[in-house]
Amino acid sequence: MAWFFLCVAVGIIIFDSILTVQRTNILRRARNINTMHRPSASQIILQFLQHHRTPLTQITRSPLKRKQQNTFFTHENRIELNADFFDSDDIVSISVACHEAGHAATEYNYKKLTKRIRTSLDILSTISVLCLLYSVGSFILLAGYHAMIHCLFGIILAYSLLTICQAHKLFFEWNATRLALEYIKEKHLATTEEFALAKQYLTRCFLTYISAIVTNVAVALTLLLL
Ligand SMILES: [Zn+2]
Repeated sequence: MAWFFLCVAVGIIIFDSILTVQRTNILRRARNINTMHRPSASQIILQFLQHHRTPLTQITRSPLKRKQQNTFFTHENRIELNADFFDSDDIVSISVACHEAGHAATEYNYKKLTKRIRTSLDILSTISVLCLLYSVGSFILLAGYHAMIHCLFGIILAYSLLTICQAHKLFFEWNATRLALEYIKEKHLATTEEFALAKQYLTRCFLTYISAIVTNVAVALTLLLL
């Protein structure tokens, strides 16, 4: 059974690389069929935020070396866009920009809810760190078989808690994508073909979050069953 979950984890890693390749292909296609004249991705963010009555967020270009290049930084109220997307007007750049602006709008319009979720997550991550300390402590203080069991128990508990912490992201990701697609449709920012590409691209981004969680669960179950 442990082998099964290990295979699932490996399968998801392969699935993840397929998603990356597909995203690159979708971006290429979006740029090839780009004939509409739209404002650039960074300008769209400003219009989107105005539409959702969200106070102005600072928009910056991400350094090329950073892995996750499109991010909304909650505490700084800042959106960082991939340097390649920043001035582009293809539908992928536009949809990613709207997605990040969707995070800002969600944060502003559901302030109380997001604050509560964040506090609970802080507590959960503190507990998971304590679990890890428990693992290390029992490994040092206990002997033989008992040390192994307690150590493993602590690690699995910490891992499960961190997975729960990750799962909360799904709500925010789903909501940001929903707002982005709604905005593109409402403002007629894409042709039918382009809209399909935007949907495909954002869905693949969302799937990477799901695959990260499934990998964590599979790894935890592998450890548990070994
Ligand atoms: Zn996102």
